[in-house]
Amino acid sequence: MVSYRIQVLLTVALAVGEAVAAGAPKTPGAGGADLLILNGRVFTADETGSTAEAVAVRGNTIMRVGPSAELSALRGPGTRVIDARGGAVLPGFNDAHVHFVSGGFALADVDLAGLTTLREVQAAISRFAAERPGDGWLRGRGWLYQPFPGGSPTREQLDAVVRDRPTVMECYDGHSLWVNSLALARAGITKDTPDPPHGEIVRDPKTGEPTGHLKESAVALIEKLMPEPSAADQRAALKTAVRHANRLGITSIQNAGTSLEEMAMYEAAKRDGDLTVRAYLAFSASPATTAAEVDRMMETWKRFGDDPILRTGIVKMFADGVIESRTAAMLAPYERDSSAGVPYFSVEELNRVVGLLDARGLQVQIHAIGDRAVRMSLDALELAARVNPAPVRGRRHRLEHIEAIAEADIVRFGKLGIIASQQPMHVSLADMNQAAPAGPWPDNIGPERWSRAWAWQRIRASGGRLAFGSDWPVATLEAGQGIWLASTRLTLPEGSAQAMSVADAIRAYTSWPAYASFDEQRKGTLAAGMLADIVVLTSDVFAQAPQRPADVVVAATVFDGRVVYER
Ligand SMILES: [Zn+2]
Repeated sequence: MVSYRIQVLLTVALAVGEAVAAGAPKTPGAGGADLLILNGRVFTADETGSTAEAVAVRGNTIMRVGPSAELSALRGPGTRVIDARGGAVLPGFNDAHVHFVSGGFALADVDLAGLTTLREVQAAISRFAAERPGDGWLRGRGWLYQPFPGGSPTREQLDAVVRDRPTVMECYDGHSLWVNSLALARAGITKDTPDPPHGEIVRDPKTGEPTGHLKESAVALIEKLMPEPSAADQRAALKTAVRHANRLGITSIQNAGTSLEEMAMYEAAKRDGDLTVRAYLAFSASPATTAAEVDRMMETWKRFGDDPILRTGIVKMFADGVIESRTAAMLAPYERDSSAGVPYFSVEELNRVVGLLDARGLQVQIHAIGDRAVRMSLDALELAARVNPAPVRGRRHRLEHIEAIAEADIVRFGKLGIIASQQPMHVSLADMNQAAPAGPWPDNIGPERWSRAWAWQRIRASGGRLAFGSDWPVATLEAGQGIWLASTRLTLPEGSAQAMSVADAIRAYTSWPAYASFDEQRKGTLAAGMLADIVVLTSDVFAQAPQRPADVVVAATVFDGRVVYER
């Protein structure tokens, strides 16, 4: 990949030099720029913090970054010009952790994200049902615990707005469902239905009747009734997701867990020109993953090759659950509880699967939220590096989320070269759940462990690399909101201690995720020879740091040299 970039740099330098020297007509195809972005506050996102005013693009590649006056000379009759009017010009955003097709589907469901009162929640559902009449399943997601007394929603609260259609609303954390009476009846769930293993049908303490709140594996009792989306539905959801991403300035996504069928769908979308985001797709592994399955991953990886739009070579697995439902694996018990959560892998299983993947040169990404899951994962990655020979492209393994961490493990990210892939908007979700005295997240682990919640600045200060994302549809896909939150960190008790500069917050959504997908030689920074993925904002976020989530607004998005969104 290094030689690829040098080659492009040489070609561009020659092309520009020739055109200027020979006084050739400055039209596209004759040495001029196809696209010029002028009068911006260009932040290249490199590590030195270099800035400029303008970017010139030819084909799908950045020709030059420099002063507006100089780059204007590359303007020809066919050159498209974007006047940034002083707004920030950045590399296209790269979301390091999404569930992209689910996000596309979620856009067509009731959106309860951020609603903090029962009245708002009920109104949103009732409005949605009225807009889409029918008798099929009504779906939605994103509810917080805060609107519900005791943090547990009831079927009566849902029956009050939808009685005649089976209705199912997923919690923002993805670990429980809130359903109405008709949905319970369709699933045949009564007071006599036993709790499934690792799941709970929440019951009225007096009558034993199901309340309409289903936790963990109990969600499968409902989900198995949902009509499977057709291939065409899935393809449409992907298209919706791509459009949504471009509108938000996102030009790259990293999908945390992708089936082989889904991968084939992305290939088809790319063939048809629908894929205007670069997609880095992770396979999925579990404690049962075999060497034969890894062989099949290797085949797909080889077939995709080093394509700059569609790549794989990374494998996602879950070491534990989430803190909200006390399924994250902790080193010490939860508050007021004897349980500390159970990891989804035994140490032996995790070491075996990580070792298997690492030996083949695959990148490993492990969902690790509790401090015990984080430690187990670091141990497994450290062991693999010790016993396996170094892979050709080096190791860039990553942990996802890292919401809780033991003091001793903070320095290990830097020491072991493991990337911390975190989601700033999850901090605000934990905060939005804070009904007095505290919401389930801080309440479940207590103040001592809460003080090390989402410790991204401390991981970075001790030499660790970061990559930020949304976990969409768990949180909003808006990178701008993540930048606001990472640079203010308004919502944690230690306040600004974990806040980072706006420049670093932007790097965490651009150049650092490019490193996390082995792509930093061709994208993630604005420089001659890099792929032309660019976002233009309506304002200069360096002069006026974002004070509110809505302060980062996208004016235009350029993907692969083409303007794919304009406000
Ligand atoms: Zn996720």
